[in-house]
Amino acid sequence: MDRWVETARTASMEIKLRADAPVEERARWLLGFAFQDPNSLSEGDRLNLREALENFITPPGVSGTRILAAGVSLLPEEKIHEIQQWLRTGLAGLATQKRWSFKAATSVTLGLSPYGLRDFTSPAGTIPTAEAFRFRIFQVLRDAGPRFRLCSECQRPFIAGKGQEYCSTRCSQAVRTRKFRAKAKKSDRLPEQPPEQRQGGR
Ligand SMILES: [Zn+2]
Repeated sequence: MDRWVETARTASMEIKLRADAPVEERARWLLGFAFQDPNSLSEGDRLNLREALENFITPPGVSGTRILAAGVSLLPEEKIHEIQQWLRTGLAGLATQKRWSFKAATSVTLGLSPYGLRDFTSPAGTIPTAEAFRFRIFQVLRDAGPRFRLCSECQRPFIAGKGQEYCSTRCSQAVRTRKFRAKAKKSDRLPEQPPEQRQGGR
C-alpha cells in the first residue's frame, strides 16, 4: 500500500473522460481516479473531474442527467472523496485477496427493441449518485476484465495495452535499470548509463 501511495504522487492522470469513451478507456480513467491526489487538483480540475465522473456513470449512447444542470450536486466534494477511498480500499483488497465483493443496489431492466433484447439498466436519465457509480464500476471492470493486470513492480492495478507488462514507464524503467546494474556488476565492469527508455515501450 505504501508503494501505491508513493506512485500516486508521481503518476499522471487524465482527469477528463469523454462521454462516448469505450470501456477500456473508462476502466483506465477509473484506476487513475482511484490513485488521484485530490489535494493536487485546481478548481478547473475539480470541475473536469466532476464532469468525468458523470460521464463515467452514464453509459455511452445515453444522455444522463447533468448533475450541475439540476442545480443540486448529488456527488458533493466529500462524497467524491468517500467513493475514491472506497474504490482504493476495494482495489487493494482485490490485489491481496484476489477478490472484491461489494453491494451495488440497482434495478436491472431488459428492453425489447427491433434488434432483440437490450440491457436498459442505466437508461437515459440515470442520476449520477454514489450508488450508480458503484454499479458502473462493476460493469466497467467486468467488461475491461481481460485487460486488468497487477503491475509486477509496484502491484498497482492497470489496464494493459498490447504487450504492456508494467503500469507505467516509470516501473518498466526501474526494472530495466535494475537488470542493467545487476548485469554490469556480474561482468565486473563499472556501470555506465542505464539503457535509454525505448520509444513507446512501457
Ligand atoms: Zn507499476
